[in-house]
Amino acid sequence: MTSVNHLRETFLSYFERQGHTRKASAPLVPDNDPTLLFVNAGMVPFKNIFTGAETPFAPRAATSQKCVRAGGKHNDLDNVGYTARHHTFFEMLGNFSFGDYFKDDAIAFAWELVTREFGLSKDRLLVTVYAEDEEAADIWKKVAGLPDDRIIRIATSDNFWSMGDTGPCGPCSEIFFDHGDKIPGGPPGSPDEDGDRFIEIWNLVFMQYEQQANGERINLPKPSIDTGMGLERMAAVLQGVHNNYEIDLFQKLIAAEEDVYKAKAAGDQLASFRVIADHLRTSAFLIADGVTPSNEGRGYVLRRIMRRAMRHGHLLGAREPAMFRLVGALASEMGEAYPELVRAQPAIEAALEQEEARFQRTLGRGLALLDEATEGLAEKDELPGETAFRLYDTFGFPLDLTQDILRGRGMSVDTKGFDDAMALQKQAARSAWAGSGDAGSDAIWFRVRDKVGPTEFLGYQGVDAVGTL
Ligand code: ATP
Ligand code: MG
Ligand code: MG
Ligand code: MG
Repeated sequence: MTSVNHLRETFLSYFERQGHTRKASAPLVPDNDPTLLFVNAGMVPFKNIFTGAETPFAPRAATSQKCVRAGGKHNDLDNVGYTARHHTFFEMLGNFSFGDYFKDDAIAFAWELVTREFGLSKDRLLVTVYAEDEEAADIWKKVAGLPDDRIIRIATSDNFWSMGDTGPCGPCSEIFFDHGDKIPGGPPGSPDEDGDRFIEIWNLVFMQYEQQANGERINLPKPSIDTGMGLERMAAVLQGVHNNYEIDLFQKLIAAEEDVYKAKAAGDQLASFRVIADHLRTSAFLIADGVTPSNEGRGYVLRRIMRRAMRHGHLLGAREPAMFRLVGALASEMGEAYPELVRAQPAIEAALEQEEARFQRTLGRGLALLDEATEGLAEKDELPGETAFRLYDTFGFPLDLTQDILRGRGMSVDTKGFDDAMALQKQAARSAWAGSGDAGSDAIWFRVRDKVGPTEFLGYQGVDAVGTL
């Protein structure tokens, strides 16, 4: 069986043999882009090389890059637990050409690696190209000998890749693996393409343009290549399993959870196990890269992810901090590839334990309040915004946590009502400060508190800031 660790090494050494320089993953917090929440693709650390602002350290490179997609343009938080293929943290394997080779070689390398090194059968593979990119379609025909109906032309942004609203971008070509007709879902471009039968394993981006803040799209100094293969997805293919959470790495983490939570990863509880495993990785890697849970910006994304996992821990019966006990298992699976995980292990454990202890003081009561509030509601109903705000403000439930819980019951939140309640509280707080000259600010503070209730102060900036990042 090809383990995750073996697969990572196979990819990187293949590209080393093709003249690529192996580089370590950059940290998850981008040092070259204040507009980006977290590194969400392998090319992000090389953004300035593609645009010509930085000189390349080598003409070709290969990496396994830590990625988090939990906010901004690429946000997979709400997919976790629902699809077989999405994580909030994952590793993206990539080969890069900085103005060196272009489409021909990129496609030839990819095809050789997938069919020769990994030994995948051509019959299980199909590719997409950007509708206008006849050149790419021709190369696929020539290099792979794929029939026309397995080279699918896509006219949407799915085949025009960009990292965000600005930055390097270009048409792309994606390789899909067919997991077989027992799994629902149609090929890319079909109406039921969102199913999990045809899974995108590798994206080859033909970097040619830079999208600028003023809306203009200019040519890059030199056409370049950026590719991204999902390590966990490829591992699933090579291990003969369909769901990413069934690969060796996740099976080890889930076994550790069974020990810690004294529960079985089966039936209704399976999704909780998977969400915890995913969020454990995201939390641990973010903390290792210096993010701490807080009420705004990146720290609030981390806190939201931790609390979502901790709610699932509660579903599995945890009434004491538990998640921190899983860090050892994660470090032993991934610590060799990412030594920062081992170095930061004590800090990760401390942050998780503290956050869970804190959240557990209000979690049970918050859930009880939510149950009570939804008792009279039917499916498709909305929870009043004020209740969601109370959960946020008093019980430390980030809005998306409440939404996630309600989604399981087919309900949603009146977000406008939530925003109004938030605005009201801000206003109350502001007028309290404005009047705090000599009238005795304590009296005003208590009046405000009576009106809006005691607050754990999870920070109103949090939601705004994260929303705009
Ligand atoms: P999808 O359409 O399945 O959401 P994507 O088109 O958003 O994937 P890309 O931006 O092209 O993904 O990223 C390159 C590769 O990284 C993908 O081909 C896939 O193998 C992997 N990948 C993307 N998102 C995730 C994720 N959330 N979890 C695990 N792997 C991912
Ligand atoms: Mg996606
Ligand atoms: Mg896609
Ligand atoms: Mg893609």
